Amino acid sequence: MKITVGVSNRHVHLTQQHLEILFGKDYQLEELKPIHQPGQYASKSFVTLETEKGILENVRILGPVREYTQVEISKTDSYRLGIAPPIRTSGDLKGSAPITLIGPCGKIFLKEACIIANRHIHVTKEEKQKYGWKEEVSVLIEGKKGGIMHHVYLKESEKSYFEMHIDTDDANAFCIENEEEVTIIDC
Ligand SMILES: [Zn+2]
Repeated sequence: MKITVGVSNRHVHLTQQHLEILFGKDYQLEELKPIHQPGQYASKSFVTLETEKGILENVRILGPVREYTQVEISKTDSYRLGIAPPIRTSGDLKGSAPITLIGPCGKIFLKEACIIANRHIHVTKEEKQKYGWKEEVSVLIEGKKGGIMHHVYLKESEKSYFEMHIDTDDANAFCIENEEEVTIIDC
């Protein structure tokens, strides 16, 4: 089965409370452009990520605000910041890496917030059942740098757009770009 790939650059999800610490009271995210997942969007706002060892500027905030604050970076980014985030599903932040967020109005140190997102496919429960998928699948990527990506987690939600999300490291390693098609081969 074919599926389209979405490549996720480093980004941040924020709670409203953290957004207001960084940008000021009653600050609201503004939509730059929608992303495929229903209701979600790239905002016009950026933060700076800081650790004792490094800094990454202009990291985009995705909206809308969430119940938790989370920073998603690549392994390459983690070397620049000198931290070792675990590979996780969104929202699973226990034991994740510490990081400081800086905005125009303030900064916040978070003890657990930074992860490397796992490879995942957004699916509905119905799609999972229909195809007999369990937790993970493997995906075949064609081309000169092609190969097989294992451990592609099936991320279930009620409203979801059927799409595979990988980070920039995975995309670069397999020489694959946003909106390209790959093939689910296994479960
Ligand atoms: Zn995703």
